Amino acid sequence: MTLLIKLCFICIFSLSLTSLIAQKDKQVNRSSANSASAIEWYKILHQNPELSTFEDSTAKFLKSKLSKIGYTIIDSLGYHSFAAVLKNGEGPTLLYRTDMDALPIKEATGWTFSSTKTVQKDQVETPVMHACGHDIHMATWLNVAQTMVNQRKKWNGTLVLLAQSAEEIGRGAKEVMASAAWKQIPQPSHQLAFHVSANLEVGELGLCDGYSMAAVDMMNITIYGQGGHGAEPYKAIDPVLISAQFITQIQSIVSRNLPPNDPAVVTVGAIQGGTVGNVIPNEVLLKLTIRTYSTESRALVMKRIKEIGDHLAMAAGMPENRLPKYDLLDMSIPPVYNSEKIGKEINACLSNKFSLVKIPPTMIGEDFGIYSGGNKIPSYLIWLGVLSKAQKEAYKNDALGIPSLHSSRFSPDFENTIPRGTEAMSTLLIHLFNKN
Ligand SMILES: [Zn+2]
Ligand SMILES: [Zn+2]
Repeated sequence: MTLLIKLCFICIFSLSLTSLIAQKDKQVNRSSANSASAIEWYKILHQNPELSTFEDSTAKFLKSKLSKIGYTIIDSLGYHSFAAVLKNGEGPTLLYRTDMDALPIKEATGWTFSSTKTVQKDQVETPVMHACGHDIHMATWLNVAQTMVNQRKKWNGTLVLLAQSAEEIGRGAKEVMASAAWKQIPQPSHQLAFHVSANLEVGELGLCDGYSMAAVDMMNITIYGQGGHGAEPYKAIDPVLISAQFITQIQSIVSRNLPPNDPAVVTVGAIQGGTVGNVIPNEVLLKLTIRTYSTESRALVMKRIKEIGDHLAMAAGMPENRLPKYDLLDMSIPPVYNSEKIGKEINACLSNKFSLVKIPPTMIGEDFGIYSGGNKIPSYLIWLGVLSKAQKEAYKNDALGIPSLHSSRFSPDFENTIPRGTEAMSTLLIHLFNKN
């Protein structure tokens, strides 16, 4: 792990700058000419975002394009997920996945084709925006689908394009894997995906071999006490005080129980308890997120949370049948582990056309990691740069800085990102088809 982190320092591959820029300009122009429809698809998808598990129209839009160009659609992969399969003679099977869902955010890009969409969510009118770039993922993915048809003489094998629902809530990939229809799909030898990076420039691809995105767990903990009068705390058992001790104490798990080279995060994001100042409540609810990489760390964090919670409650006088309740929510996802072998192939086929940037691991999660089945199938998630040079310069003078993913201002340079992403992914797919 130490070695992996050391390897993930940021470095830009050295090509002569002048030749690199000239080469890229030429490629952008050439690819743009082939990507006019993909840019229109992007605008349609951007203007019509759908929240996790509700991607019905989005899936229909993608399927209609794919069936017209010869892909066989396999439906019923959970929510609105589907696969589009193209058989092109004997050869390996490769999988390339896109996600489809958007976020409950009110768009503030100022674009003429901004999303003005709202939906009713929990009886509240909620705005919807593609603020995580899944619209870029889809437009690029569709364009790669077309490119692989156009270039079918250059490769042999089976291409499985997977469109996945509900990535933002960590449920989509699990549903795909649990579906009966998934078993009909040939098992791939390699699996690929893009995620846009809000900080990288167009033409830059971010790579992080090994653990690149964290395992995510969400947990609700109920700390019980014995309610009473706020003026007579000695007659009560105060769950607010136990919670305060617990929140402080669990911060020692990362600093004192885990090796410092195996990163983890334990965050209490919400505390709900009590009503007024002079009443000691019966219970307090805490909502946590836990981020880890290795299975050992994950197990240790879970064990220590329970040990600390149980012992603090007992020390406060709670009986054994009223110790804290630990609810691990059905949103857990494993880490994304990027295969070093695929990392080498990316270097081999893309380093002369793209700037390959080494990216450190992030504690953000992505359910793409589920498809590797515990790292049994080599997989790689590549960060796709989306900023134009002009945007990067302009943001330097902007007090708000570069808009991150999930920002209402997230405004990628889609006109250049989509053609460059298409070129990178189709080149890599063809390379892997011929290599295996
Ligand atoms: Zn997201
Ligand atoms: Zn995303």
